[in-house]
Amino acid sequence: MALYRTDAIVLGHRNLGEADKILTLFSPEKGKIHAVAKGVRRPRNPILAGSQLFTYSNFLIIEGRNLDNISQCEIKESFYKIRQNLEHMAYGLYFAELLRVSTPMEDKNRELFRFFLKTMYLLQEWNNTELLSRIYEIKLMAIQGFAPEIFRCVGCGEKVGNKVYFSTLMGGILCLNCHEKDRKSINITPETISVLRKMLMMTYEELEGLHVKEYIKEQLKNISSIFISHHIDRKLKTVQFIKDISNLKTGKSL
Ligand SMILES: [Zn+2]
Repeated sequence: MALYRTDAIVLGHRNLGEADKILTLFSPEKGKIHAVAKGVRRPRNPILAGSQLFTYSNFLIIEGRNLDNISQCEIKESFYKIRQNLEHMAYGLYFAELLRVSTPMEDKNRELFRFFLKTMYLLQEWNNTELLSRIYEIKLMAIQGFAPEIFRCVGCGEKVGNKVYFSTLMGGILCLNCHEKDRKSINITPETISVLRKMLMMTYEELEGLHVKEYIKEQLKNISSIFISHHIDRKLKTVQFIKDISNLKTGKSL
């Protein structure tokens, strides 16, 4: 039986049989893979700590005929701070779900791995999880190759003026002359597009202190969610969880 060693982050897990779990791992060498953690639901199992959500470890894996088996793991970063805070946990689950559903199995992508790992480190540190989330979404879409065109009108190729519309169907912004090409296009402000461009072009570090006005936040959230659900044809389970948590924070009843 072949053995291999790889770094990986735990993106998800589900129970298997009486004491096992199937982990969804994301690795720089292998992409998204499934592997069985045998006996991991028993106390004092050596792989137990490394099977926690978001944990980043070096795994020793035995190739199986159907499923691979985890033989050993050495934790590099447990990201326990994310799991300790309900809001950060909700965003972590959302980031992992978005990555999981937008990535095919065993599709190696080192850039995507580095980007995801970095996002998880920042999720531990940043208080502004909403800003982190908007930046993550647009950058993830860009790496995955389905970012919207936000620099020129997708209808005519010209620069947009003061009236800007966002079209999910056509995959980007529309100018005043073209906006009727998609009757469902949404009117947004030039300031919103300018913030979105910054989020796409600048690094997380450069964007950390970015102040975003409330109405821009709302517009970004709206277009981002419509755009993502257009590209990922399934309902994301974690979106409602984030809504519930933010309602709890603002005191609204669920
Ligand atoms: Zn146009």
